Amino acid sequence: MSCASCASRIERVVRMAPGVIDANVNYAAATLGVRLDTSVIAPSRVEEIVHDAGYEAAIIDDASKEPEDRGRGVLRTRLAVAAFFTIASMLPEMIAHLAGKEPSDPHVACCIALIAGILTVPVVSFSAWPFIVRALRSIRDRAPGMDLLIATGAVTTFGYSVVVLATGSSLVYFSTAGAIVAFLLLGRVIEDSARRRSVAAVRLLHALAPNVTHLIGEDTQEIDVATSSVPVGAKIRIRPGERIPLDGRVAFGSSNLDRSLLTGESTPVAVGANDVVEAGTLNLDGALVVEVVHTVGNRSLDEVARSVDLLLSHRAPMQALADRVAGKLTVVVLVVASATALATWIVSHDVATALARAVAVTVIACPCALGLATPMAVLVAAGRSARRGILFRDGASIERTADVTALLFDKTGTLTVGHPTVRGVIAASGHTRDEVLACAAMAEASSEHPVARAIVHAAPKVEANGSTRAIAGHGVEWIGDDGHCIRVGRRTFVASSAGPEPVTPHTVAHVSRDGEWIGVIVVDDPPRSEARRVVAEMRRRGLRIAMITGDRREVADDVAGRLGITEVVADCDPAEKARTVERWRQDGEVVGFAGDGLNDGPALAAADVGFAIDRATDVAQAAASVVLRGGGIEQILVAVDIARATRRIMRQNLAWALVYNSLAIPGAVAGFIPPSVAAFAMAASSLSVVANSLRLASRRLTGNTGSAALPSP
Ligand code: ADP
Ligand code: MG
Repeated sequence: MSCASCASRIERVVRMAPGVIDANVNYAAATLGVRLDTSVIAPSRVEEIVHDAGYEAAIIDDASKEPEDRGRGVLRTRLAVAAFFTIASMLPEMIAHLAGKEPSDPHVACCIALIAGILTVPVVSFSAWPFIVRALRSIRDRAPGMDLLIATGAVTTFGYSVVVLATGSSLVYFSTAGAIVAFLLLGRVIEDSARRRSVAAVRLLHALAPNVTHLIGEDTQEIDVATSSVPVGAKIRIRPGERIPLDGRVAFGSSNLDRSLLTGESTPVAVGANDVVEAGTLNLDGALVVEVVHTVGNRSLDEVARSVDLLLSHRAPMQALADRVAGKLTVVVLVVASATALATWIVSHDVATALARAVAVTVIACPCALGLATPMAVLVAAGRSARRGILFRDGASIERTADVTALLFDKTGTLTVGHPTVRGVIAASGHTRDEVLACAAMAEASSEHPVARAIVHAAPKVEANGSTRAIAGHGVEWIGDDGHCIRVGRRTFVASSAGPEPVTPHTVAHVSRDGEWIGVIVVDDPPRSEARRVVAEMRRRGLRIAMITGDRREVADDVAGRLGITEVVADCDPAEKARTVERWRQDGEVVGFAGDGLNDGPALAAADVGFAIDRATDVAQAAASVVLRGGGIEQILVAVDIARATRRIMRQNLAWALVYNSLAIPGAVAGFIPPSVAAFAMAASSLSVVANSLRLASRRLTGNTGSAALPSP
């Protein structure tokens, strides 16, 4: 694509095809996201449609493979040709000067003009070829864009000069035609390489995991095989200093892992037997034998990659206006250019000046910067945030995250560590503590809730067959094959005649068997160490903070007090959490909700922005618009900072692009800007948008990029 208007043209032609539900092009990343009714249209047909419109497309089936691109080398060749011949076309005049032959001699002048004309031919044919082809196709598709403007500018200037020369005059504009093409190609090459580098920064994630894996065979022999061929359950070896190729569980060995490229966490994590390791992390010092859990395509790394692709294939809402303007601009510009030519000619009777102005208008008005304004910012932000372990669902979630005014936090697992320990067991009379714990552990064996994990961890292993049902925010019910029913959870849930709540600021789980309350288990789940300062830091950003939990008021107040949170909503079931979010929204807040559990799904979905905390349940991740990997809740802070910085850049880009066009067009109409300067200005305006967006990749722009920047507790 040569400009953002190409993006809208591709979208247009693809959307027109039957069976296409939606199509979105991110110009900066050069990706097309389509939703298809595959019973009507095959994905390969989309490739053909794109090809037919004058572009090339390839399906990204394997996320780890960079789509092959031959266009790049050709583009450089075209630029080299344009630069060489444009400069060459200016030489004859200079040589004539140096040789003491005055170009004012009509004979010499015509000769020079002819040579310049011949030298410009490769520029307007070979170098400008893609512009011309797409201009013609865009007329056919009735979606005129930037190519049409450039092609019209270059071809008109060249054609006019030929006519002038044919009539025996030497007042030609051949080098101007060449300069237009050369400057635009130069702008494109620079822009292209900046975009490519940003795309590479995103795609680098795919490349993190090695393609070759040391597989341990049946006979304990080690062989190197392609990572993609390794099945689940295979044992692989990872030597110190190597990156981990596949997600798995450590079967043997221990080591420290550097997860910084995946999550931004800089402190190494120690792993030993049975610990989970992720593809893409760097094995620092120990040799590991890992049993593969996820194959290529299912690794969490691949999920990150997919989520980045998804982000890039949606348009940020802020761009909608810019696209509408850009879409109309081409036609407006052609009209304005014609009117300018006509008016100038009427006033001055000078065809050459009239034409030069019209060409300047045509070339300078390309809405390229306008089209690039937000996609470029989203592209850079995507790379930046993905490497910090923050996955925005789409451009809209970046903008909404920047708008958040209030943050509601789930307690268990979000503000707290989420690895509680059993502190005590109280048994009803006639029951023993061991019995209570054993019953509870039986019921909780397959529950994902933090309280459940604590109970299972504390109890001796018991084997019993039965089926479990989780009632999110209340507890679990287990029905054994022998017909017994055990419930663990909130007091009101387990039995109608439960014993009293113990007086403790800790979370409790009541246990009942066949409707009879048999006791209660007390667990301690301390707040995350960074939570207090993160909360304070968020206040400093002007955010209203509250905690919302399914736990008891006593526990909630205790944790909130320790973290400095004053607004607390306790005893909430999942639906109530969502209703609270709704109520805050009606009060005019833009609500962010951070949660991790099964019970947080409705609230995450109801919030303007749902943040799923690291290691959140699948339900939470699916409902969230921002998924955080690695780190604690300070990732939310980083997400807010990146989002705000991105929005600021988007606004600057759009404002600049609009100002540029509204100043440049009148300037060209008034005749202040010659055509070759117009081409230069046009290229420069796109490049400035690119450069401004690249600031997002720098550390400084986002106030906090890590815990180091946070004030210490
Ligand atoms: P939070 O909103 O703080 O994340 P939950 O909504 O997950 O808390 O749980 C609320 C309460 O319900 C817990 O404090 C606990 O008493 C009880 N509960 C929920 N699920 C379970 C479970 N699987 N085992 C024991 N208790 C549970
Ligand atoms: Mg929770």
